[in-house]
Amino acid sequence: MRRKLAAGNWKMNGSRAALAEVEALCAAHPDSAVELLLCPPATLVAPMADARGSHPLRVGGQDCHSSESGAHTGDISAAMLKEAGASHVIVGHSERRTDHGETSETVAAKAAAAHAAGLVAVICLGETLAEREAGTTLAVVADQLGASLPEGATAANTVVAYEPVWAIGTGKVPTLEQIAEVHEYLRKELATHLPDAADGIRLLYGGSVKASNAADIFSVRDVDGALVGGASLRAEDFSPIVSAL
Ligand code: 13P
Repeated sequence: MRRKLAAGNWKMNGSRAALAEVEALCAAHPDSAVELLLCPPATLVAPMADARGSHPLRVGGQDCHSSESGAHTGDISAAMLKEAGASHVIVGHSERRTDHGETSETVAAKAAAAHAAGLVAVICLGETLAEREAGTTLAVVADQLGASLPEGATAANTVVAYEPVWAIGTGKVPTLEQIAEVHEYLRKELATHLPDAADGIRLLYGGSVKASNAADIFSVRDVDGALVGGASLRAEDFSPIVSAL
């Protein structure tokens, strides 16, 4: 049985003042059956870990370097995130793939570094609008999945998030049939790569999830939760999504 996961990606948003939202979220879901994860900017990982108090909210980074340490100005290692209080790290978000030219091979190396440091890697993938319109969605996500999964991925250390690039921050959401098709396909692909782990790995949907569409999206088979951007910044927006799970 896969435990549902409601994950928020704050992207390059938030400040210490925004930690009041974390306290509100924790107060609204004191003993949530759903696993909660928030991934703030790196500067807020430690303060957010403090702000949650004894609540089991998980805190994650948004990226890590594939190396343990060294001459990589501006980067952060998985162990540094872990020391700051993170248990998870997002790798391969489409904004990293686009803004920083990350390939699936880079993503696999980052996920391996996350695992080595004891972090859960949330591996993101998804097609562009051009790929969707060209009918290559399934081939694209299968390629990304196969090349982004590191050796040693397990249900305990890996989450996969399907985020169609054209649905991120646009208010456009795939149909439930389209989400179902991709998630079912990803589950099958996982089984070819990781026969023992495939059933247990959580598959999240991400891209314009909000309170009004969350319940429908979560009713889709093989959707084990969501990776939420804009609607994770404020407790009043994120809390109904958590409740919908
Ligand atoms: P939005 O929920 O703002 O569309 O962002 C989704 C996302 O990219 C989460 O990683």
